[in-house]
Amino acid sequence: MAEVGTPDQPLRVAVVGSGPSGFYATEALFKQGLTVKVDLFERLPAPFGLVRNGVAPDHPKLKQAIQVYEKIAETPGFGFLGNVTIGRDITVDELRAHYHAVVFTCGAETDRRLGIRGEDLPGSHTATEFVGWYNGHPDYRDRSFDLSHEAAAIIGQGNVAIDVARILAKTVDELKHTDIAEHALDALAESRIRDIFIIGRRGPMQAKFTHIELRELGELEDCTPIVKASDLALNAESEAELADKNSRTSVKNMETMKAFAGLSEAGKRRRCHLVFLQGPVRLEGSQRLERVVLEKNVLSGPAFKQSAKPTGETVALDCGILFRSIGYRGVPIPGLPFDERAGVLPNQDGRIIDQQGEPIPGLYTAGWIKRGPTGIIGTNRADAVATVKSLIDDLPKLKTRAVDSAGNIADLIQQKNLRRVSYADWSKIDQSEIGCGSGKGKPREKYTRVSEMLGILG
Ligand code: NAP
Repeated sequence: MAEVGTPDQPLRVAVVGSGPSGFYATEALFKQGLTVKVDLFERLPAPFGLVRNGVAPDHPKLKQAIQVYEKIAETPGFGFLGNVTIGRDITVDELRAHYHAVVFTCGAETDRRLGIRGEDLPGSHTATEFVGWYNGHPDYRDRSFDLSHEAAAIIGQGNVAIDVARILAKTVDELKHTDIAEHALDALAESRIRDIFIIGRRGPMQAKFTHIELRELGELEDCTPIVKASDLALNAESEAELADKNSRTSVKNMETMKAFAGLSEAGKRRRCHLVFLQGPVRLEGSQRLERVVLEKNVLSGPAFKQSAKPTGETVALDCGILFRSIGYRGVPIPGLPFDERAGVLPNQDGRIIDQQGEPIPGLYTAGWIKRGPTGIIGTNRADAVATVKSLIDDLPKLKTRAVDSAGNIADLIQQKNLRRVSYADWSKIDQSEIGCGSGKGKPREKYTRVSEMLGILG
């Protein structure tokens, strides 16, 4: 029998999820000096995951990562199987039977919950829904957001909160030449929102956003960032954090916020308020959201480990729309173990483990579904490389898995009557989107329904 990883017996790997981690895992597999075939599965017809559906439309530079993924897709041995959902159309066991190894890189598809009264009142939304909606993700195409109110609250102070705030704050002119979905641009054009509150449970030094994203709030055409100078007074522990050489981001954030505190809001239609040391305790409203009740906090604990300690004093903030932006969370995949507490696939060094903590042969994971929703796009490259190292270390064991008895994956797809979207199919959809966008001065006009994408393919 030929060695696995040779032209006679290529190493066959399925990667599930075509976001950054999926492509970086694919790239790492192709760099092993072996003959490798990688089939990249994606539940949507369009690849690129969070880069297409999560990165804000007005951040085109971040989307340049797609050019790297397009190169990876040109590698001999690469296959794209779009519009196929693992755990529904094809089971994990069926997939395992066809490949030496399967790497799950399906990201964190939902949001963490606040767990407070009124969380599900109409008018209270997750950031994921809003981000998916303005990015034209088919799952969120038909969501509607009532932008007829003057005040919007965003809970959380990470980069997603800043993205949501910026999209709410920008004018149509600032957005119309981006790849924002048309339905979102039309709705935002009618928005009556004047005040956007980005609410953090801890202080300015503990905010999770990064300074480039924060700084952009000061560069908006018709919106002024508002920071109270008194909120920038730090306790001794936060001063110690500020003095630490590893606090570059927070130091730059503080400098930017100090500059914001001195700004005049004259002449601008919108305001974006950074609110600190307040945590939501309940959402109120008779039929729909009318206000969020916030409890004032103080910081408690040593430097770098300070948590928000409620004081018992509450304030009510009237708002007609609210976005919960407190971090993403992975969702379980039928047929795989799941760590409910952390919202990830339980794993050791990327090897998916069972309840006894033993690696399940041939199953691996990388990216947010492996480690949780942290880091920037590039963070997922090193993470995927580490998982692929585990996989390659296991090669002697993977070789002995009987993968050929189940036949070709294309046969299984045909038997199941699935409409698989190949990479050539995706390229047609891609070209069509680019064509639709060019007349409007947009990089592309995305198709926002799966049926529209499949319609292009006839
Ligand atoms: P995040 O950075 O983890 O921020 C979550 C925020 O929610 C924090 O301010 C956190 O406060 C707060 N929070 C958590 N639980 C809360 C609760 N129960 N009540 C009130 N506040 C709560 O998450 P994210 O903004 O979703 O971003 C996810 C990742 O994507 C991050 O690594 C981010 O940098 C990245 N990202 C990057 C970009 C970019 O590069 N432009 C854009 C978007 C996202 P505590 O700190 O107190 O927990």
